[in-house]
Amino acid sequence: MTTGTSGGFRGHGPQAPLDLGELGPAQVESIVGRLADGTMPALAGALAKASNCVHPVRLVGRSESVDLRTGEIVSTFRSVDEPMGLLYKPCGNRREAVCPSCSRLYARDTFELISTGLHGGKGVPAAVNANPLLFVTLTAPSFGPVHRIRDGKEPCHPRTRLAMCPHGRRLTCWANHSPDDPRVGAPLCGDCYDTVSAIVWQWHAPELWRRFTIALRRQLAVELGLRDRDLKHHARLEYAKVAEFQARGLVHFHALVRMDGPDGAGSPAPIGAAMLQHAVGHAAAAVTCTALPLDDRDVERILRFGAQTHVRIVREGTVAGDEITAEQVAGYLAKYSTKSAGADPEHLLPHLARLTEFCRALSARALAGCPFACEERAGDRHPRLCGACAHNPYALLGRWASMLGFRGHFSTKSRRYSVTLGALRRARRRFQSLAVDARHRATPLDTRELEQRLMADDEETTLVVGSWTYDGSGWPRPGDKALADAAASRAREYARWRADQRTTNPA
Ligand SMILES: [Zn+2]
Ligand SMILES: [Zn+2]
Ligand SMILES: [Zn+2]
Ligand SMILES: [Zn+2]
Repeated sequence: MTTGTSGGFRGHGPQAPLDLGELGPAQVESIVGRLADGTMPALAGALAKASNCVHPVRLVGRSESVDLRTGEIVSTFRSVDEPMGLLYKPCGNRREAVCPSCSRLYARDTFELISTGLHGGKGVPAAVNANPLLFVTLTAPSFGPVHRIRDGKEPCHPRTRLAMCPHGRRLTCWANHSPDDPRVGAPLCGDCYDTVSAIVWQWHAPELWRRFTIALRRQLAVELGLRDRDLKHHARLEYAKVAEFQARGLVHFHALVRMDGPDGAGSPAPIGAAMLQHAVGHAAAAVTCTALPLDDRDVERILRFGAQTHVRIVREGTVAGDEITAEQVAGYLAKYSTKSAGADPEHLLPHLARLTEFCRALSARALAGCPFACEERAGDRHPRLCGACAHNPYALLGRWASMLGFRGHFSTKSRRYSVTLGALRRARRRFQSLAVDARHRATPLDTRELEQRLMADDEETTLVVGSWTYDGSGWPRPGDKALADAAASRAREYARWRADQRTTNPA
């Protein structure tokens, strides 16, 4: 057993320099410059306040907090008083590849909201852990063979006969791809691969999910011998889901599906997990969505989920002895919520870059022949389209090219699943203002019923009135971002170390 002092975090102290990775000459010069002109402590302060966000938004201005009950100004905040004379506001980006620090906060919040739906807390009754729970994965169908990693060290596409496609490309691949092999997810033949259908599927994936939830409620009504509209008087279906990009650039949906009784979380469900599992499998296989043709030369498509639907029972709903699995699932979902398509959005793998080009090309194709030349603007960030084109179902496909045509949210949940991300953010804000208040008054923070106060849905009693102007984004000097990156990864290591300490040395 290690004690707190002997097993301290290695990353503290002068013997543990920050790992800055490889720096260019401009970055080195700017870091040396900060040390020379004495602005390094100010930068360190600003980095800490912005939680080491790598692309903060720079704001100039001031705000006043007004107590709504008395009309009194309780505090004033001015950007000129900040360490570097500006307010650096974290970018809040969800994607790990864009901002490691902000995405970690997002993952933490996602984990919180998923796990409160598993165990209760923050206003969700603890009895929720008696409700049946499934872990469901819905996949995209196949649009042609792609390079893949297979279990048990099997080669990618082994075939004894030399098979060639009509384009003269081999349909065999004897490689054992490693996870970082850029070929993983790329079609064996880009011309055989049905890229158009793949993108049309992705474009409709959120609708397919929506229809799945409707089909599932119908199926449950059938199994319970009820009319659709009476289901809510007997059972409620709640879920939390995340979308995860696979190597081929199409999304999977991973969802926790929970069955509650008529009074919501914690009220006993009328059926067990096995019956729910059956209904999910049935609904996933049956649900379809008809996609309109892109143009006169195209065809209508009936879209479905892929055959590899996984429906695992996490909790039977009778005993709560498998908490670890539920915890793992929550962690798994939170991690997926921060992944983007391809590791680095700036340097997309060739087959993913091809999908983005297709998104733009297909929306231009759908709008081709418009007398106002809308197709030329179809790929713009905010395309200005004529009335007719604005109603075309593929009009905005080009705008979602960087998301490979996926326009859904990356993590969503049904309304009564648990708390909301908004409520968690509000609680954090309230906590900060309580802490500031306690500091000002030089009194300890009263933790009595703190969680309840933080999560309360009541009206805010403080109004923040501010006037802010946008100064730009990012850190001012080239080396600053490298320091933010290094500090963020140090914070990540520290959090991991703390978590290890907790598991090996529980208090
Ligand atoms: Zn950020
Ligand atoms: Zn291969
Ligand atoms: Zn081919
Ligand atoms: Zn038009």
